[in-house]
Amino acid sequence: MRKSKTTQHKPHVVIIGAGIGSLAASALLAKDGYRVTVLEKNEQAGGRSSLLVDQGFRFDMGPSWYLMPEVFERYFAHFGKDPKTLLDLQAPDPQYRIFFHDKTHVDIVRNLDKNCELFESIEEGAGHMLRAYLADSERKYEASLAHFLYRNMDSVFDLLNVDLMRKGFSLDVFGTMDKHVGRYFESEKLKQIIEYTLVFLGGAPSNTPALFSLMSHLDFNQGVLYPKGGFYKVVEALYQNAIEQGVTFHFNTPVSKILTDKRRIVGVQTNTGIIEADVLISNADYVHTEDLLDNARLRTYDHAYWSKKLPAPSAFLMYLGIQGKLPSLRHHTLYFGKNWIEHFESIFGVKPYWPKNPSLYINAPSVSDHTVAPEGCENLMILVPVAAGLSDGSKWKKHYADFILDYIEKNMNIRLHERILTQKIFSVDDFTDRYNSWRGNALGGLAHTLWQSALWRPKNKSAHLKNLFFVGANTNPGIGVPPAIISAELVRQRVNTLLQ
Ligand SMILES: Cc1cc2nc3c(=O)[nH]c(=O)nc-3n(C[C@H](O)[C@H](O)[C@H](O)COP(=O)(O)OP(=O)(O)OC[C@H]3O[C@@H](n4cnc5c(N)ncnc54)[C@H](O)[C@@H]3O)c2cc1C
Repeated sequence: MRKSKTTQHKPHVVIIGAGIGSLAASALLAKDGYRVTVLEKNEQAGGRSSLLVDQGFRFDMGPSWYLMPEVFERYFAHFGKDPKTLLDLQAPDPQYRIFFHDKTHVDIVRNLDKNCELFESIEEGAGHMLRAYLADSERKYEASLAHFLYRNMDSVFDLLNVDLMRKGFSLDVFGTMDKHVGRYFESEKLKQIIEYTLVFLGGAPSNTPALFSLMSHLDFNQGVLYPKGGFYKVVEALYQNAIEQGVTFHFNTPVSKILTDKRRIVGVQTNTGIIEADVLISNADYVHTEDLLDNARLRTYDHAYWSKKLPAPSAFLMYLGIQGKLPSLRHHTLYFGKNWIEHFESIFGVKPYWPKNPSLYINAPSVSDHTVAPEGCENLMILVPVAAGLSDGSKWKKHYADFILDYIEKNMNIRLHERILTQKIFSVDDFTDRYNSWRGNALGGLAHTLWQSALWRPKNKSAHLKNLFFVGANTNPGIGVPPAIISAELVRQRVNTLLQ
């Protein structure tokens, strides 16, 4: 496996899937001098960050919040590029609007003083507490960047780095989010405003470690950015960069088997034949990847392991092209349902079910970007977090879609029914069909509970096959576009350690 000085051939790195982690890793490894081939089952790059174009509407099928800008800056700097020039990054203000079940609403803006005034108007003393809470969030974020995120962790000794642990305990990272937030705020509304970002990590306030209060730093201090033209512009920038580095992409090319010889991967089977590999990296979901192994004894994690794990939620998604404008929506709008806890229970409880009073998110980029919808129209993505593994099917999806439209009308006073020009519904089984997603989870793998994060997240290298690695949200550091980019830097270290 060592890079031979005498051979003319560069080691061949094959990557399964063209999601964010793959796009980022492929370019880094091509830059490092390897021959890199990406095999993607679908027709486009991006994976869970795909693009849907219909009748002049451009729908980002996945991400809409551009967070952690320094991760993108660090990544593109490897290639002498700056995301600020590659992307037209905009800062919508208000950042988002929240509707509560009592029919009131608030706007979170880009001005901390104003947000503190808002908190104070809801609970006496909460303005001051918001500043204290955000200072703590910032410290956690800085410590995570410095100690956790860009680090391959192989054993408990990596985690027991004294400085890291000292910081961990002093920052209250191991308790749960609901307890942590409860130390600052009493009002249910304020707790909800602070805690909803956990949905981005696939967690609930009761099962997510307080470390992830760092999300509030990204949201309130740094602010949510938006690449004009839609989030898919990020995918295009990553893809274009990979092409420039010499990466070869094959779309509509599912990998159907991973071929091994003793403790090495030798290649993969595709619909166009066998492709030999010196190194294989999988960006596909972990369970699916190991199901493809021609020898099940070489799995790192068997099905019994996965049956004890908590997947990140799936999502019930509606992509709607709407005739006319919707003035009560902002670029990002949230609705917090009557029974907030019940919705989390429907996702993470012992017996998951379809939520009856859901909280939901509406992405309406056409509110601030006229390039993503025909003139005078809105493009909406409605997202209801639901449990992974629920069964749906076309009849149920139609029924639930009608329920959600009625629910939005009743609770947010927005009637959409007669104004729908185009509609696509995407739900649990679609995640499985389109991305080979484990139990149809939407975000990419395990929820970020304490025992499913950091050292305890599935490893980015196989325990038994020395040239098999993993990249993306399934592995470290975890869920979301910036973590998937960081995971590419981590896998690059692994591959270079093996091949150099
Ligand atoms: C609705 C929604 C909203 C989100 N919002 C945000 C947000 O606002 N901000 C944010 O940062 N993140 C968000 N996320 C999460 C983010 O999109 C994901 O965490 C991230 O895109 C995962 O990237 P990945 O590298 O793990 O690859 P994935 O996207 O999981 O891609 C894996 C790829 O592998 C391919 N594949 C699978 N099996 C095979 C096979 N056998 N052969 C070939 N190819 C195969 C799949 O088709 C896919 O293209 C959101 C996700 C969703 C669904």
